[in-house]
Amino acid sequence: MSARAGNIVQPGLDVARIRADFPILHQAVNSHPLAYLDNAASSQRPLQVIDAVAEYYRSDHANVHRGVHALSQRATDAFEGARSKLRAFVNAASDKEIIWTRGTTEAINLVAQAWARPRLGPGDEILVSRMEHHANIVPWQMVCEQTGATLVVAPIDEKGEIRLDEFERLLGPATRLVAVGHVSNALGTINPVREMTAMAKAAGAAVLLDGAQAVPHMRVDVRELGCDFYAFSSHKMCGPTGIGVLYGREAILAEMPPWQGGGDMILAVSFEGTIYNDLPWKFEAGTPNIAGAVGFGAAVDYLEDIGMDAIAAREAQLLEHATRVLSEVPGLRIIGTAEHKAAVVSFVLEGIHPHDIGTIVDAEGIAVRTGHHCAMPVMEFFGVPATARASYSFYNTEEETERLAAALNKAQEMFA
Ligand code: PMP
Repeated sequence: MSARAGNIVQPGLDVARIRADFPILHQAVNSHPLAYLDNAASSQRPLQVIDAVAEYYRSDHANVHRGVHALSQRATDAFEGARSKLRAFVNAASDKEIIWTRGTTEAINLVAQAWARPRLGPGDEILVSRMEHHANIVPWQMVCEQTGATLVVAPIDEKGEIRLDEFERLLGPATRLVAVGHVSNALGTINPVREMTAMAKAAGAAVLLDGAQAVPHMRVDVRELGCDFYAFSSHKMCGPTGIGVLYGREAILAEMPPWQGGGDMILAVSFEGTIYNDLPWKFEAGTPNIAGAVGFGAAVDYLEDIGMDAIAAREAQLLEHATRVLSEVPGLRIIGTAEHKAAVVSFVLEGIHPHDIGTIVDAEGIAVRTGHHCAMPVMEFFGVPATARASYSFYNTEEETERLAAALNKAQEMFA
């Protein structure tokens, strides 16, 4: 594919037309056209989402679940309608299984505090992997401190794949919970989570999957995966910041006590005792992020219009091209070479610190992430302090990767 291959037209996916939906992409940064390759940190929003949020505030806003007046009814319908869209998007069995949270991080903390903390004690184990995001490590460390349970870590190999044999060996009667990422943000590895969930279930453990990097890029069916919990964030999938979802199987959520207390999570309050609300509201104390939910629903509509299979196919193409083109840069080493990968290319460049790479390519209008990507144990495993990371969305082009490669070649010359 040549440098002219940017904005190519795919059957069913017209990248040029899609890019027209994203106003933010059409700007100059440091006198160059913006190339936004930091989608794993946060994606951008199409007009359809921006307009849905603006329209909600312009015409429909009031608090939800509280008023009989027209605006409150409309806001409640929009808010609960968005929940139904999210339920359908991940194929949950019921709207009761979709809990709004601030994002993946809050969803995992909810499970840590409302599921794990009341159940676990000394001798119990929580199994994670070496490639987890800090959001899927620290809440479990906190629960271990609170309960006396032990955090066990499944190793990875040089390609950045989980060692399944070791993972299975570490499962045992003491394993109460397995908490693993569906897709690694630092490496791009797509983990065989269906298989891992089946292994964990066979050992009698509950399973939480961190889907922050999976749901934006592929069709996810929580029932097919067979997990108990699945967490993801709106802002990585074209929706607003500050909102995400905890999917939980209804039976397991029903057994859990509430996490935070306050308005909306109750049916009746007296000083003799409080009756908690039904699912899903039992876990949604206080005024929720209504506009965020509305925007998240619009984002899901937008992704469905394009089609998750078409998105996955387009991003696979971008990954194949980026891997090939970036590998040709002298001294560049890709960190994370798993067989099944999402469109994430983490790399180090001989003789240049990743932070310098970030600054140099930013001068050319190219946004990549540099640092430990909230996955310090992964960096430690690969013996690097940090990496630079180009992470793609369906609206990216091959031309943007060609520009990144050219900027890296220039950096090599500067530092030579
Ligand atoms: N898990 C993974 C794999 C992630 O990539 C991220 C975000 N970088 C998170 C969890 C945390 O998501 P959030 O910051 O939206 O809560």
